[in-house]
Amino acid sequence: MTTNYLWTPPAVQSLPVRGSDQRLPIHRLFFVGRNYHAHAVEMGRPVDKSVERPFYFTKAPSTLVESGATVAYPPETQNYHFEMELVVAIGKAGFRIAAEHAHEYIYGYACGLDMTRRDLQLVARDKGRPWDLGKDVEQSSVASEIVPMAGTVIDSGAIELSVNGAVKQRSDVDKLIWNIREIIADLSLFYHLQPGDLIYTGTPEGVGAVVPGDKITGSVAGVGSVALTVGAAE
Ligand code: MN
Repeated sequence: MTTNYLWTPPAVQSLPVRGSDQRLPIHRLFFVGRNYHAHAVEMGRPVDKSVERPFYFTKAPSTLVESGATVAYPPETQNYHFEMELVVAIGKAGFRIAAEHAHEYIYGYACGLDMTRRDLQLVARDKGRPWDLGKDVEQSSVASEIVPMAGTVIDSGAIELSVNGAVKQRSDVDKLIWNIREIIADLSLFYHLQPGDLIYTGTPEGVGAVVPGDKITGSVAGVGSVALTVGAAE
């Protein structure tokens, strides 16, 4: 029987899957903070892995936009930043996953952008407030098609981002502070991971601001590419 809703509920967010006419339905969007040393340093918060654990924030699935979109420059910021990231798509439910079994929970990968109101994020960080206004920005979670790579752990590969053709970020996934096995194991201590959870694994150094009209392109070797155009402010 059809549920008698007051109004039509929003559609399930989903992403295209390479080589398939089926789409991957999205459950949650997780983001790892400060997961490349050089980015942690540029943010003024170096990481000592020997005494720290990874940390996370989330964005609403409604913030997801597909690669190739044009998005409005968001309100209430003067410093809208790009962050290029490798994205892991979880394909199987798991809780307290051992790192050596983490590959069993991977469906595939995407290239992603974690767009950020940096000015608001830093105010929140420095005042001890939640990061939502800086991070949970409408249309800020950009993802390419999902590339099915079940059981594969990506441990290396060039990760790059350009704005209007000029390279801004260039690193390698082998520089992740917490690698993909470690992230899946650690995150699954806090959450029952579900199929359709996406994990944005963190950005390398070189983050910076965009302005209306900018065209962002990014890539991860062996996965693919992502693109976003920044439109006019509303
Ligand atoms: Mn990020």
